[in-house]
Amino acid sequence: MNNEFILAPSILSADFTRLGEQIAECEAAGADWIHVDVMDGHFVPNLTMGPFIVEACRRVTKLPLDVHLMVESPERLLEAFAKAGASHLTVHVEACPDLRSTLQEIKALGCAAGVTLNPDTPIASIEPVLHMVDLALVLTVHPGYSGQAFLPETTPKVAALRRMLDAIGSPAWLEVDGGISAQTLPEVRAAGANAFVAAHAVFDYPEGIAAGIKVLREQLNKNHGLRRDL
Ligand code: ZN
Repeated sequence: MNNEFILAPSILSADFTRLGEQIAECEAAGADWIHVDVMDGHFVPNLTMGPFIVEACRRVTKLPLDVHLMVESPERLLEAFAKAGASHLTVHVEACPDLRSTLQEIKALGCAAGVTLNPDTPIASIEPVLHMVDLALVLTVHPGYSGQAFLPETTPKVAALRRMLDAIGSPAWLEVDGGISAQTLPEVRAAGANAFVAAHAVFDYPEGIAAGIKVLREQLNKNHGLRRDL
């Protein structure tokens, strides 16, 4: 990966009648990963996409597919998503009966292993597995729907997770997901995030996808500095 900061458009806000074109537009505009928000209608009320969509994405882009499983007992589905072409599989601590074995299975399938937690879940719940993960995701909205407003109370959680990862010397990506825009991105970047999911701010940007990505990248390239006081 060449970029110090990762921009991962979430296709949750894409126009699915033009999914291939829109992913190509993201790639051409400099997106680093494509984020796929999988919801099962159970762990979260909404129902979105499964391995079939991941497989379709895999055919149209070489970018890593960053698959976020908002799914109860995700261990049932890991192999199907890996076979479909997922590059990263991120699971929720709240949804895994045996988080360690689930993360081990993700790695055994050849994918990068990610862990995440809901805004109301204490960060201590994922501390015991941080040494095992390639990616730690902080949800900055309550999961379930695209287009929600960023929750500012999640920023200290990003900062706390940055300290935990640094303390164990982990090179894991610290990703944020939910309500990320040119306005909210500087705050979470200053807290130590280095991978940024954006849905609405890319796919619904008034001047188009490429312009939306450009605006976010400009924010990432500014030197906001890391704040240790958060
Ligand atoms: Zn997500």
